[in-house]
Amino acid sequence: MAERVHRKNTRPVKVGNLTIGGNDEVIIQSMATTKTHDIEATVAEISRLEEAGCQIVRVACPDMRAAEAISEIKKRINIPLVVDIHFNYKFALKAIEGGADKIRINPGNIGKRENVEAVVQAAKAKGIPIRIGVNAGSLERHLLEKYGYPTADAMVESALHHIKILEDLDFHDIIVSMKASDVHLAVEAYDKASKAFDYPLHLGITESGTLFAGTVKSAAGIGVLLNMGIGNTLRISLSADPVEEVKVARELLKSFGLAANAATLISCPTCGRIEIDLISIANEVEDYIATIKAPIKVAVLGCAVNGPGEAREADIGIAGARGEGLLFMKGEIVRKVPEETMVEELKKEIDKLAEEHYAK
Ligand code: SF4
Repeated sequence: MAERVHRKNTRPVKVGNLTIGGNDEVIIQSMATTKTHDIEATVAEISRLEEAGCQIVRVACPDMRAAEAISEIKKRINIPLVVDIHFNYKFALKAIEGGADKIRINPGNIGKRENVEAVVQAAKAKGIPIRIGVNAGSLERHLLEKYGYPTADAMVESALHHIKILEDLDFHDIIVSMKASDVHLAVEAYDKASKAFDYPLHLGITESGTLFAGTVKSAAGIGVLLNMGIGNTLRISLSADPVEEVKVARELLKSFGLAANAATLISCPTCGRIEIDLISIANEVEDYIATIKAPIKVAVLGCAVNGPGEAREADIGIAGARGEGLLFMKGEIVRKVPEETMVEELKKEIDKLAEEHYAK
C-alpha cells in the first residue's frame, strides 16, 4: 500500500463534536436533497441519513428562507450541520447565527473585504470552520484565461487564492475540496493540493452519475486517493437517494480498512457447485450487518467444497451443504444447521460476536 502522508499530517479542524484531519479517520458526509426552508422534510431526510451512518450533513442555502431555517433544523438533528453558500455573505452570517457547525463558502466570491471580514469574524466567534470548495466547473475567469481550461494547477491556484484571503485574516480552521467530474483531473488536483497545503481535504468526484455508474466512478477516483493517504472526509455524489451515498461511502472506507467499527460481508461469486440460494442470503445478511458497529467479518458461501477454507479470515460464516448449512468460525466448521433456519442461526451468532465486542 502507498505510504500514507497527507491524511495524518493535516491540521486538525473541529466540526461540531468531530475532528477532521490530524488522524487516519475519514468522515462520511452527505447532502440533503430537500428544500432547506422545508424544515420538516429536511429534518426527516437528515434523520434517515444519520441512521444510515452519515457523520456530517450539508444543506444548500440558496436564499434567506433557507438560512433562517438553520436554527430550527440544528435543534432537531444529532450530527454536525454544514451550510452551503454561494456568493451571498448575509446568508452565511444568518446560518452561523443559527448554529451551523461549518459553512462552505469561497471567500473570494463574496465581494468586498468587509463582507469577508464579517463572515470570518462570525465564524471565529463561534469556533466553526470554513470549507473552500474548488470546482473544476466553476473556476475563476482569470484562471481559465491563464490556463486555457480547468487544470489541476489552476484548481490548486484557486484554492491557494481563497486560503490566502482567510489566512490574511488569521483564520486557519479551513477544509478544502477540489472537485471535478473527470476522475483523472480530480485525482491530480487532490494530489497536488495535498502537497501544497496541510489543511484537511474533503474528497468528492462531482456529478459522478446515477447509483450504479456514479458508485463505480466515485470508488475509482476516491479509492485512488484513499490509497495514497489523501482525504479526511468524503462525499459520494450520486443522482440517487442520499442514503445510498452513505452506504457507498461506508463500503468504500471498509475496503481500505478505514471504517473502524463496521461489519464486513465476504460472499462467494457462486459457481456450479452452489447448494443454497446464495444471492438472496448474501443480500439479507448484508442488510442485517449494515447497522452493526463492530469489526466482524461474516462469510456466506455457496458450498462447503472450498467454502470455509476460502473464507478463513471470516469470524463467522455459513456454507451451503445439501439441504443444510455448515456454520463455521475462522475456517473451522462448528456445527450443522438446517437450511430453513441457517440464516437465523447466523444472525444470532453475529449478534453474540457484536455483544462481545461492545462489552470489551
Ligand atoms: Fe463455487 Fe462453492 Fe466457491 Fe461458492 S464457495 S464459488 S459455490 S466453490
